[in-house]
Amino acid sequence: MKYLLLLVFLMVQFGVFAVPNGTLCLTFDDRFLDQWIKADEIFKKYDARATFFISGKIDDQTLAALKRLQDGGHSIGLHALNHAKMPGYVKKHGMTAYTGNEIMPQLEICRKNAITIRAFAYPYSQRDPDTDRELFKNFDFLRTNCNAVKSADVTLDKADGCFVRNVQKKQLFYGFPASGNFKLNEVKAAMKRAAEENAVLVFYAHNITEKPGKSHHIAYFQLIQILEYAKELQMRISGMNEL
Ligand SMILES: [Zn+2]
Repeated sequence: MKYLLLLVFLMVQFGVFAVPNGTLCLTFDDRFLDQWIKADEIFKKYDARATFFISGKIDDQTLAALKRLQDGGHSIGLHALNHAKMPGYVKKHGMTAYTGNEIMPQLEICRKNAITIRAFAYPYSQRDPDTDRELFKNFDFLRTNCNAVKSADVTLDKADGCFVRNVQKKQLFYGFPASGNFKLNEVKAAMKRAAEENAVLVFYAHNITEKPGKSHHIAYFQLIQILEYAKELQMRISGMNEL
C-alpha cells in the first residue's frame, strides 16, 4: 500500500496525469522586427513562444533580427518576398513564377543561415486548394484568416474550423484577428474551448504597440490579457515549429 501511494505520488509529480490543455499559436505578420523583439520580454514572462511571418527582403539586418527571435525560442515563418496575393499572381504568371519569385528568395537565405522554416502565412489571406498544394511542397503549415470557416454573425468559439485537434503533417490553419478592437470575451471563450478540447487555436496580428491603434495591431495590454488567460487555462503557447 505504501509503495502504491509512493508510485501515485511520483506519477503526479512527474505529470503522468497531466491533462493537455490545448495550444495557442500567436502569429505576427510583415516586418515589425524592432517591436517584435521589444515584446520578447513579455513573451518570456509567460513562457510563451510566437511565430513571426516575415515579408520583404531578408538582408543582413533582417537576418540578425530573425536569428535573435529564433534564439529566443520563437518560430520564423515566411510571408512572401513582395507580399503578392498568390491566387491572382498565379493566374497571371503561373505557379512556378510565384514559387520562384516570392518564396525561394526568402527560403534560400533562411536555409543558408540556419533559420528553420516550416510555416507560411498567405499575404492578404488569399488562397485556394491549388496554392495550398504548391506551398505544401516547401512548408508543413499554412495560415490564412478565418473568413472561410467563420461567418461574421458567429462567435469564434462556435467556428469549428478554427479548432484543430489533430494537427496533420500538412495543415492549413484558419487564424483569428486578435488585434485592434477585438472582443476579449469572444477570444477568451474560444481559448476556453481550445483548452477543453486540447485543440490548436491560431490568432494573428501585425505590430505590437503601446496603445491600441490600427485594426491589425495588438497593444501590449491586450497581448498580456491573452497571455494571462492562456496561463490560467494552462494552455501551451508555442510557435508553429513546435507543433
Ligand atoms: Zn501581410
